[in-house]
Amino acid sequence: MNWRVSLPITLNEQTRGAALVWEIVKYYTRRRGVLSLAAAIAYGFVRTGQELTVPDIQLIFAHPSYSDPQVRTLDRTPGMTLTLYQCRPESTGSIHAKSPDPVAAPAIRPNYLADKLDRRTLVAGMKIARRIVNNSALDRYRAFEMNPGEKCQTDDELLEFARHYGQTAYHVVGTCKMGHDPMAVVNDELQVHGLIGLRIVDASIMPTMTSGNTNAPVIMIAEKGRRHGQSRGLAAGARGVARLAPSRRAEQGSTACTRLVPRAPIRSRRIVTGLVPAENIFKKTLRYGHVSLF
Ligand SMILES: Cc1cc2nc3c(=O)[nH]c(=O)nc-3n(C[C@H](O)[C@H](O)[C@H](O)COP(=O)(O)OP(=O)(O)OC[C@H]3O[C@@H](n4cnc5c(N)ncnc54)[C@H](O)[C@@H]3O)c2cc1C
Repeated sequence: MNWRVSLPITLNEQTRGAALVWEIVKYYTRRRGVLSLAAAIAYGFVRTGQELTVPDIQLIFAHPSYSDPQVRTLDRTPGMTLTLYQCRPESTGSIHAKSPDPVAAPAIRPNYLADKLDRRTLVAGMKIARRIVNNSALDRYRAFEMNPGEKCQTDDELLEFARHYGQTAYHVVGTCKMGHDPMAVVNDELQVHGLIGLRIVDASIMPTMTSGNTNAPVIMIAEKGRRHGQSRGLAAGARGVARLAPSRRAEQGSTACTRLVPRAPIRSRRIVTGLVPAENIFKKTLRYGHVSLF
């Protein structure tokens, strides 16, 4: 959601023409200015209902604006954006192999906003975002709401806007979730069930979405993987051999080994999925990030 700003104090003007040249000089001489900024300058977590014990919406405030979030070309006039997304969406998509070729693109069905709770939470979050920006403290900066705009008022209209303009935040997790149920791929030491000598160490092992962004949790998973890898076993991506565990060998009547060869000629992260029994991976559900509104 974005708003026109009444003063020329936003990234829209500061990143073009002479102002940009000055910003480049500032960055190279003092490491300051707009080029030193992160993607946003303020973050927050809010609850959409009194009954909730933990926040269910993340807010991200930045001081540029785009007229079209899919193109992401900054507006020429001052603007600001309040992005919001649901912390732990319930809607579940799917990812399925389309061919026996392990490097062929799979069929990905994100299935955003399928769950009623997700729709309700997102609409409630949009109303909270409006309340924040319409607060009197922002009167001297706020000119008018550009997107979705004042004409968009009912829950259905807000939801329609979200469906049409919402984007993912790319917090993809859960295709090889940790656990001990039939859908779990790795145990709590990141070892693949049914295989000896193979660990998966990335965002795919998260059983559910984390409330905030996923990068820091992935770093924690990597630290955990390193610790386990140092004590015993083999981390995904290392060179070595993964073997079927005795229980699965009996099941499959085979003693097959699979050689792990990282990098070329394998071109995708399916280096791991290629080694894990297909039924353990491709039937997995996919929590495919949030719908965020720019
Ligand atoms: C556009 C975008 C913006 C994001 N913004 C944020 C953000 O602001 N904050 C945040 O917390 N999170 C953000 N995320 C999410 C975050 O980046 C991911 O959750 C995190 O990087 C996932 O880590 P990973 O190790 O699981 O996978 P990746 O980071 O994707 O790492 C996979 C690695 O494996 C390598 N690789 C692939 N195939 C092979 C192969 N065959 N052999 C060897 N290596 C291979 C790749 O080169 C890559 O280095 C963003 C994601 C995207 C896509």
